[in-house]
Amino acid sequence: MENCVFCKIAKKEIPCFEVFENEKFLAFLDINPRNPGHTLVIPKEHFRWVWDVPYLGEYFEVVGKIARVIKKSMKTDFVVSFIIGEEVPHAHIHLVPRFPEDGHGALIDLSLIRKIGKEEMEKIAKEIKENV
Ligand code: AMP
Repeated sequence: MENCVFCKIAKKEIPCFEVFENEKFLAFLDINPRNPGHTLVIPKEHFRWVWDVPYLGEYFEVVGKIARVIKKSMKTDFVVSFIIGEEVPHAHIHLVPRFPEDGHGALIDLSLIRKIGKEEMEKIAKEIKENV
């Protein structure tokens, strides 16, 4: 879809910190990470909502695979997932690794954005990508 930032990322028209790609899906780091390793998993095809994706089973298989890789790469057993879709109108699932005393409560505090530089983001993306 025209003017959709995630469509542009899927078509490689704008860069991202990629962690996984196959024919149908792409996973990349959120540019406003709520914790290091915060990842978004999208279908490359444009759908407004996650619930509109006609191959949800396949989508969830990929999300599960990435979540398990994040656990290993970020050295935590606790990875949470949520779906909002208010800011970017292209289906995406958030995966956020949790750490002891990471400042979030039972739920992720969306206003808590980590300052992580480009080099560190590249390092995190590489670490996750290598474990996929
Ligand atoms: P929401 O649509 O409310 O689920 O939130 C969209 C998420 O996408 C936010 O956490 C943003 O930080 C993230 N986001 C927006 N633009 C980009 C981008 N170009 N690359 C990576 N993440 C992005």
